[in-house]
Amino acid sequence: MCTAFNRWGKGLLLVFLALAACSSPEQQTGAPTQDPTTGEVYTRRRVVVNDSLIRGRVLDRNDSVLVDTRLQYLLKLPRRSPLDTLALGELLGWDSTTVRQRIADALPYENTPAGYPVQLSLTAAEVKRVRRDSADWPNLILTERTQRVYTTGAGAPVLGYMGAEAQAFYRQAKRYRRGRFYRLRNGGVETYYNGLLNGRHGYLHPLVDAKGKEHGTWAKDTTFQQGQDLHLTIDVKLQAYAEKLIGNRKGYLVALDPRTGEILCFVSAPVYPAATITAPDQAGVRAKLLESEDMPLINRPAMLANPPGSVFKLVNAAVALQLGAISPSTAFRCDQSLVSCVHDHPQASSLTKGLKYSCNPYFYQVMQNLINRMPDSLAVDTVAVRHANLDLWRRYTRSFGLDSVLGVDVPREAPGFLPTAAYYDKARRTTRWTYRSVYSLSIGQGEINLTGLQMANMAAIIANRGWYYTPHLVRSVGDGGPLARFTEKHRTLIDSVHFAALVPGMVAVMQRGGTADASSLADVGITVAGKTGTVQNDEGDDHAAFVGFAPANNPKIAVAVYIENAGFGATAAAPCAVMVMEKYLRGSIAPKRKRWEKRIQRRAQNGY
Ligand SMILES: [Zn+2]
Repeated sequence: MCTAFNRWGKGLLLVFLALAACSSPEQQTGAPTQDPTTGEVYTRRRVVVNDSLIRGRVLDRNDSVLVDTRLQYLLKLPRRSPLDTLALGELLGWDSTTVRQRIADALPYENTPAGYPVQLSLTAAEVKRVRRDSADWPNLILTERTQRVYTTGAGAPVLGYMGAEAQAFYRQAKRYRRGRFYRLRNGGVETYYNGLLNGRHGYLHPLVDAKGKEHGTWAKDTTFQQGQDLHLTIDVKLQAYAEKLIGNRKGYLVALDPRTGEILCFVSAPVYPAATITAPDQAGVRAKLLESEDMPLINRPAMLANPPGSVFKLVNAAVALQLGAISPSTAFRCDQSLVSCVHDHPQASSLTKGLKYSCNPYFYQVMQNLINRMPDSLAVDTVAVRHANLDLWRRYTRSFGLDSVLGVDVPREAPGFLPTAAYYDKARRTTRWTYRSVYSLSIGQGEINLTGLQMANMAAIIANRGWYYTPHLVRSVGDGGPLARFTEKHRTLIDSVHFAALVPGMVAVMQRGGTADASSLADVGITVAGKTGTVQNDEGDDHAAFVGFAPANNPKIAVAVYIENAGFGATAAAPCAVMVMEKYLRGSIAPKRKRWEKRIQRRAQNGY
């Protein structure tokens, strides 16, 4: 009850603040009314409670406020008269480079004509300086307005923005990417939960005496409802840390708590500061983001689906175990006449070894057993068998939440893709296609596409040995819990024993001789289970992928990393994933890995 009172109290406080701050609060004066007993005459007023002032805040999982509605100060520069930038810098306490940079950031495109209205956001301290010297600067106009304010630069694709404040950005976006600009719109939780954040606006009807004192109300006050706060699942410190690891490279990093489906960090890179889209003085920065060939505004983990590469061997192995196509002790030769093997390795005498070395021919044969397998019914037509087995494979892999949207609380989530038998009939122009023409599925290449959210969720499913909660970004709305659908457990069609059979191989990946042994966290007592992937790409360098979780036997964090055109998953993606695991589980990075951490951050900053 106490919190409800505080909430109401905060709402009222904001209303009075608004009355004090705005020069013309929306209010109407009705006919005067006379009190029959005292004879006092009151003025009837109607005060509109402004929505923006009651909008809820956005907080991280440790209750740090990330987005709030606050008063913002804007300095309008004179439109015509030439500006003395040196003197302006002195006034604001900025050096001349800063003045030029801040003005350039505010101009919407490079050759913006002179006279374009430039507004600069100021801090309270800068406002003090301007007010002190206002007599010397008659052409400068200082205005105030309430606006959504971001206390952090991190988490841009998660936080998003309030649509009403993004109009200038929408106009810019339409200009740059005409038909496709909608893909660049990512309102994050600010848009997804807009209705709950907003609350309901209403009216107050005070009776005011000649001295301006209130005496009750003249009509029932419409109960306005304070907007509800959103408590995110994101850990903003971990988010900022992970953003520094991926930086200006193209790709994503998603970390989940597999036990709850809570998303701990959600990086879409290249990264950009959260306030950029709506800040009144960032039009120039937005133009650069819109022009960039790296498409930083695409919300990669949610909207882009990519071939998963070798990490998908985990899913294929689980399905093959469930359908009896292999057993954990099945051995296959590294027969490079089937498909080339990237790694030079000893014999893969079991599934664990197959995973450890990520042997392509091994998994070629796993899938071959699955697709060519004769079912119990005595089917003789091998065409029919292949069709039935491929569709069976798809039914089991779909239970990982693939080939359909997971239902994560972000706008515009993509479903990814898993091919059907009918798809190949059409693509291969014959129903008589053989395993040979679809084998790339076995190594996660070809037609399969997964989003970053699906990749992280796949790691969480294995961590949980077979089930998941839909990944989500909001753990509670107001005083309530998350949306109901996030508390519903989803089970795959695969028994937990078959997931348990994958874990030794994933642990071996991180051990001596495994594909990611350099990223082991054994020295700080963390056993990581992981799988690397190097995804061939027709248009350029290979993409680097990694999924994993830790600790292997009691998983608290599952991570997926994908870095485009970065080469080997083991060297580019795995180190980022284990740094995030170590940071989350231990709070800091071990001294011996500090140099490595710096090197990754430097590469991230350089964007390669
Ligand atoms: Zn091999």
